[in-house]
Amino acid sequence: AASDKASSVVVIGLGRFGGSLALELEAQGTEVLGIDANEEIVQSFNGHLTHVVRADSTKEEVLRQLSVHEFDRAVVGIGSDIEASILTTSRILKFQRPQIWAKAISEPHAEILGQLGVEHVIRPEHDMGKRVAHLVLGSILDYVEFEDDFVMIRTTPPAGVRDRPLGVLGLRDKYGITIVAVKRPGGTWGHTTAQTVLYDDDQIIVQGSKSQAEKFSTLP
Ligand code: ADP
Repeated sequence: AASDKASSVVVIGLGRFGGSLALELEAQGTEVLGIDANEEIVQSFNGHLTHVVRADSTKEEVLRQLSVHEFDRAVVGIGSDIEASILTTSRILKFQRPQIWAKAISEPHAEILGQLGVEHVIRPEHDMGKRVAHLVLGSILDYVEFEDDFVMIRTTPPAGVRDRPLGVLGLRDKYGITIVAVKRPGGTWGHTTAQTVLYDDDQIIVQGSKSQAEKFSTLP
């Protein structure tokens, strides 16, 4: 039924990226239609995804036969074959139905997908490299970047914000950031209030623009 397709996800290209994404979706309870041109790959996912089909996704009639236009969400995990990636995404864009997440393997590839109108372009290696750089720097424990350079960072409180209530520190005016949550050693995450006092061994979540949140989080 169409409602089933609306809640499930079609994943095209079951390589390292699309494959692990598809398995994670299934693990979280989402039905996946996996499509790949390679017979061996299709067989290896048989029984692990709700449906797996061997097909060439660059052909519009193939996508129609598989009812891709009835899904709400599609992931195009084809990367190295840029032509196949572009043809596949442009066919799906023509359907005007599933929202598309497409993988790009280079800056030009990402740019073209963006120009075609793909809303979510993912560059796994590039994005993960950027993320890990912040972890390697040490003071940043976790790093999530949203669009428009908005980030959330898990870190420890810089010296200047410890031992006094957040309400008196004026962090939003001074640094352009908000400390949204705190976790005491051995405790769990909780929201901060104006009365919250941070200590040396706390962990905090800092929210704000990329540059301001990073600057704040790497203060000594
Ligand atoms: P990764 O780096 O994530 O492994 P690749 O780009 O190397 O990604 O692999 C993408 C997958 O997409 C491969 O399994 C390949 O068989 C599949 N693929 C490539 N072209 C097509 C196509 N036209 N139709 C369907 N699947 C395709």
